[in-house]
Amino acid sequence: MNNTIGIYVHIPFCIKKCPYCDFNSIAVTSAPDDIYIDAVLEELAGHIKEKPSLLNKTLETIYIGGGTPSIIEPHNIKKLVNGIRQAFSDTAPDEITIEINPGTVTRDRLAAFKDAGINRLSIGIQSFNEKMLKTLGRIHSAKDSVRCYEYARAAGFNNIGMDIIFGAPEQSIKEWEEDIETAACLRPEHISTYNLTIENGTSFFTLQKSCELALPSEEEQTLMYEIAINILKNKGYNHYEISNFSLAGFESRHNNRYWLGMDYLGLGAGAHSYISSLNIVSQEQTPDWGTRWWNEKNPDVYMQRIKDTDHAIAGKETLKKVEALEEGIFLGLRRLTGIDTGWFLTRFNISLKDLYASKISALKAAELLYEDANSIRLTHKGLLLSNEVFAELI
Ligand code: SF4
Repeated sequence: MNNTIGIYVHIPFCIKKCPYCDFNSIAVTSAPDDIYIDAVLEELAGHIKEKPSLLNKTLETIYIGGGTPSIIEPHNIKKLVNGIRQAFSDTAPDEITIEINPGTVTRDRLAAFKDAGINRLSIGIQSFNEKMLKTLGRIHSAKDSVRCYEYARAAGFNNIGMDIIFGAPEQSIKEWEEDIETAACLRPEHISTYNLTIENGTSFFTLQKSCELALPSEEEQTLMYEIAINILKNKGYNHYEISNFSLAGFESRHNNRYWLGMDYLGLGAGAHSYISSLNIVSQEQTPDWGTRWWNEKNPDVYMQRIKDTDHAIAGKETLKKVEALEEGIFLGLRRLTGIDTGWFLTRFNISLKDLYASKISALKAAELLYEDANSIRLTHKGLLLSNEVFAELI
């Protein structure tokens, strides 16, 4: 059994709420850095106190996401990284990522993040088109993004990811093509392409309801995705997950943990955790299928609960075998290498091919799934229609 763990830290603060965003984030004039980072470290200490065997796991990754973690002062990021590392016997995790908003950093700040122990950046570029950035309500310009990338290189970061969005209101195919070309020409090690979805409760949702949002058609959005695949492949990027591309050796190790069903401990307001082999919530031994829990979302309530009780768990579920199995299929198929059928048999003691024989045959006949001796994976057509494949299989 894999005995490693990844830690996710959620920073729920932003300078301004983007109109499409349904992440757990709030706009603040100044983030309560000191008290929030102390609360996160206290939460970690609480988990370890409750279940010391957590420390038998090797810390492999730390991912600081949000929200906008780059508004946290670098000395507090250093305190956070050091605090987590020290808790795990001063282990040096292979990958320590922080998400960066290009509108929040200077050359010095990026250098200070490097000094804090961060070795991977994920920059929320979203677009290089000024009109698009305005539509998306971003606080930065395209110039800021390029400058941020250059400063990051100058600071010595050699593992940089960029997030870009397609399917935004009034975005043309040509504008998307320019965005993806610009990103690839800058040569970050990793590029994530996200198809904008309109989430309930966002400003975009309200605009869509009153027919004020001119989104590209479904066909145009599929074409945008295909364009990204073609351009990035031609530029030497490996398409390794539905939305993710990387240069050789630069897949996101932390995100791979999610797709491969590996353990992660989420700290901070609204953070989710999944631990497969022990129950650090109630100290009971869990069944093999793992336990998932999630924290209180409101940052103030989170901090107060940590202060009072050392934890801020809002809900918890123990997975049944069928849930773990369906999740294994759903997440496994997101990776372009697909599901290793030997792994599936070992983990669930049942053959994937036998379990879903008729569905797999039908999806193969429709050229949506490909099967060889060791794996089942999405075809190119299956990638474009992945939601339909998942719905059919699960
Ligand atoms: S910066 Fe990111 S997390 Fe913050 S509101 Fe915008 S999209 Fe959401």
